[in-house]
Amino acid sequence: LKLKFAAPSGSWECPTCMVQNKAADLKCVACETRKPGSSSNDDLRLKFAAPSGSWECQTCMVQNKAGDLKCAACQTSKPGAESAG
Ligand SMILES: [Zn+2]
Ligand SMILES: [Zn+2]
Repeated sequence: LKLKFAAPSGSWECPTCMVQNKAADLKCVACETRKPGSSSNDDLRLKFAAPSGSWECQTCMVQNKAGDLKCAACQTSKPGAESAG
């Protein structure tokens, strides 16, 4: 067996398939296992995702229902709301 040569700085080895991945890769290129120790901000964001279609008031941060065209608290119009007609 050859001595393992030093991997490029920042690269990481997939614990699942032992493939060397680049530092910039957040998932293994071979098996798509998540990079160990990588921050999971995306997971947190998903965990606190609002119900589908709901929207947050830019003014007072209140969560409104998808059907609401104005904020229930401060009457600010829904961002991107299309005016029918
Ligand atoms: Zn892998
Ligand atoms: Zn509001």
